[in-house]
Amino acid sequence: MSTRAPETSSVGAGDLVAALQRRGVTDVDDSTLTRALYSTDASLYRVVPQAVARPRATEEILAILDAARELQVPVTMRGAGTSIAGNAVGPGLVVDTVKHLNRVLSIDADKQSALIQPGVVHASLQKAAAPLGLRFGPDPSTHTRCTIGGMIGNNACGSRALGYGRMVDNVVAMRSVLGTGEVVGGLAGTTSAAADRLAELTDAHLGVIRPQFGRFGRQVSGYSLEHLLPEHGRHLDRFLVGSEGTLGLVLEAEVRLVRDAPVRTLVVLGYPSMAEAADAVPALLAHPLVACEGLDARIVDIVRANGSAVPDLPVGAGWLFAEVTGETTAETEAIAARVVADAGALEHRVVTDLGESAALWRIREDGAGLAARSLSRPAYSGWEDAAVPPAHLGAWLRDFDELLRHHDLDGVPYGHFGDGCVHVRIDFPLVDEAGRQATFRSFLEASARKLADYGGSLSGEHGDGRARSELLSTMYDAEAVRLFGAVKAVCDPEGLLNPGVLVDPDPFDAHLRADRPRRNPP
Ligand SMILES: Cc1cc2nc3c(=O)[nH]c(=O)nc-3n(C[C@H](O)[C@H](O)[C@H](O)COP(=O)(O)OP(=O)(O)OC[C@H]3O[C@@H](n4cnc5c(N)ncnc54)[C@H](O)[C@@H]3O)c2cc1C
Repeated sequence: MSTRAPETSSVGAGDLVAALQRRGVTDVDDSTLTRALYSTDASLYRVVPQAVARPRATEEILAILDAARELQVPVTMRGAGTSIAGNAVGPGLVVDTVKHLNRVLSIDADKQSALIQPGVVHASLQKAAAPLGLRFGPDPSTHTRCTIGGMIGNNACGSRALGYGRMVDNVVAMRSVLGTGEVVGGLAGTTSAAADRLAELTDAHLGVIRPQFGRFGRQVSGYSLEHLLPEHGRHLDRFLVGSEGTLGLVLEAEVRLVRDAPVRTLVVLGYPSMAEAADAVPALLAHPLVACEGLDARIVDIVRANGSAVPDLPVGAGWLFAEVTGETTAETEAIAARVVADAGALEHRVVTDLGESAALWRIREDGAGLAARSLSRPAYSGWEDAAVPPAHLGAWLRDFDELLRHHDLDGVPYGHFGDGCVHVRIDFPLVDEAGRQATFRSFLEASARKLADYGGSLSGEHGDGRARSELLSTMYDAEAVRLFGAVKAVCDPEGLLNPGVLVDPDPFDAHLRADRPRRNPP
């Protein structure tokens, strides 16, 4: 049974705006400019909404959902729209939380947690927590603009998730409204009919969920059904994290804050190649690393070619940047020495000077941005954050290189190696001479099949969105995919929430921004 709302609504934008205004939602805009602005996120996809609503109070989200259900109009939530997989675009209504619902409501320093509205920008939360000696742990590269609601939507991570956990590990409790209109979660303080039905579904599918879900940390793709298992406390809030606004809308969240250890030390390890650096990762994970990032000589060359100074690196053509923290330099140096002893590196450097380690981290940060622009053809997202259990990372990287070569494609991988997550932008010819995306499709399908051999996850932190949802059936068996549909039917039976994503997915080559053949420039 399809739970999918129709792609195009039979309701006119004027009726939709009027229905919202009748319910007290006054910041609604169906102008061509606004619809165009919200038709894209940071991905390759473009879907033009009918209107954009910017709720001024949390309760207005309930009113928006009520109107959408009455008129059968799809609803897609949106924070900063920095999603790379088309997670935050949709037909019908786009609901922007960043404009008005952007407040840190309170911080409890003793409990080390903050109560936030969903549109709070990550950097604003850090600013509010810093005077209390606290910070929010996960740190996506987009921290200056991404919202905590969007991080919850995607189960975002970042470089230091190894030390501070993924978004899901940092949610204490939430208040969300499901597609049924039921308000649920640890902050809602009510019993939930949906939770009962999800528990029944879980108990009827233990043999599907236990072997396939929660196998490794960066298994971000699909719904995280492991959180509904009895042995994991049937945690509805945690289950909703990463569901990309397809099951419920987050109204408020309490998130964990951490007190940083005062000393950071960076261990830079050199290897003959990036794949060999990846082979060394499992041995390093026995140590308390906060971050473990991998990159290769191509990134370093790109940074140099861009005119930036590159500090001395240990000899090699592939490197790991491992960060450790502690109360004293003596403590971090002792951990660093143990890391080096287990690393099997050609050469290493232990960097305690903060300026120097910042310069080294800049290679990773600048290189990531420059890598995409260094290829002879334009490079795109679409396959940009797959993850494998770290024990398989080296083998996966070698196979991935082969997949690129076989499809006559190029890309410069790097990433969160300690978590098995590899970032890359690939120079797909998005529109070939026949006006098709044939290579895009064949590469993604072949990569998904190969990734499945390693028990990998299509997404390790960006979520599935429109780019990967169609491929979930290569990662999960048919029963698990059916279970996604059953879960959706419990939480969003009318299929109004972020349609085209996760359940009943749109093909990943539909709605591409570059899907029209371009005329050659004169
Ligand atoms: C250059 C670049 C670098 C990036 N680096 C990282 C990185 O290091 N680590 C990482 O994890 N990600 C990274 N990302 C991806 C992205 O920035 C993160 O996923 C970010 O957390 C998204 O936040 P946002 O506010 O932009 O959310 P949006 O893109 O607006 O939304 C994200 C998802 O959450 C849903 N959503 C939003 N608000 C709500 C709500 N209130 N209730 C329910 N669902 C909601 C949306 O519908 C959507 O599905 C990067 C992106 C870019 C462009």
